[in-house]
Amino acid sequence: MTNEERNKIIAEALGLCWHVRKYSINSPTFGRCIKCGVIYASHPDFSTWDGFGLIMERGTERRWWKCFINKIGGFSSIDLLEDDQELMEPDDYIPVSTINPPIMFTELSTWLSENEKEWRKG
Ligand SMILES: [Zn+2]
Repeated sequence: MTNEERNKIIAEALGLCWHVRKYSINSPTFGRCIKCGVIYASHPDFSTWDGFGLIMERGTERRWWKCFINKIGGFSSIDLLEDDQELMEPDDYIPVSTINPPIMFTELSTWLSENEKEWRKG
């Protein structure tokens, strides 16, 4: 996979538009996305700290998130509960080694490409 393919699959899995640029005669470097209408400058780069932040903000709200973090050695606190226990504020945990933008970028895009059926269903 190229880095662009990795960024695209992560954007789609996070529910973000992968913008398609429409060039303007007056401003060739700036345009409106033909899919969502947003005027934009560039695609997100998920191998940066800004991109990592987007994954942490949006990924945790996605249905496939728990499946993914289990694969990289993480877990949800709910998984640790005994039957009769309750937890006021359940939380998710990921290994410290994946709190690293290039590593998370590679791990997540690889998992997404190998598990498209898991996350494309919605
Ligand atoms: Zn768009």
